[in-house]
Amino acid sequence: MTKEEIKEVVEAYLVDRFDKIWGKIKELEKKIQECEGKLTQQQTDNDKNLSIQNQNINEIESKFRNLITILEETQRSANQVIEKTALKLKEIENVKKNQQQKLEQLAQIQNYQQQILVSQQQQQQNQAQLQQQVFLQQNKPNQQEIQEYQIQTLQQAPEGMVFRMQNGNRYHRLNCENVKKFKSKMITRHEAEQSQLTKCQICKP
Ligand SMILES: [Zn+2]
Repeated sequence: MTKEEIKEVVEAYLVDRFDKIWGKIKELEKKIQECEGKLTQQQTDNDKNLSIQNQNINEIESKFRNLITILEETQRSANQVIEKTALKLKEIENVKKNQQQKLEQLAQIQNYQQQILVSQQQQQQNQAQLQQQVFLQQNKPNQQEIQEYQIQTLQQAPEGMVFRMQNGNRYHRLNCENVKKFKSKMITRHEAEQSQLTKCQICKP
């Protein structure tokens, strides 16, 4: 084999090898491009997801802020309601106190009225008694009075009877000058003794 022949064979071999290597390089390049494409896609997806997530987070944050605002407003309203309720309670307390005072005053007035009524009744009773006394005084039968105390016309005292004055603590005979001078009443000796009357020193009954 000549030198030229060897050179040709080696060249042919190298070309063949190179072609195969080149093919592999191309394959690798293609695969790398595919991988890059996939990576880019993934990156895009990731970015998209991230964006969506960010959006979600923003939405949640916004909702949270709204909630906080609503909560603050609610708190404020609740505070107002509490304040108003406290005021109302105070008012109710005052009203109750006033009612209590009025009730006490009413009770006092009723008490006074009761007292006035009682004293009026007493006055009426007294007046009625007075009127009755006056009536009795005015309508005292004179006939009876004469029978009881004006017995000067009597000629003779019945057996066992003595005489007493309207005022005085002695009893007498019919012919005693006291009986002739003053209004006298005829009673039994027993009645006279029962009434703690003593014998007249003048007529000695
Ligand atoms: Zn006498």
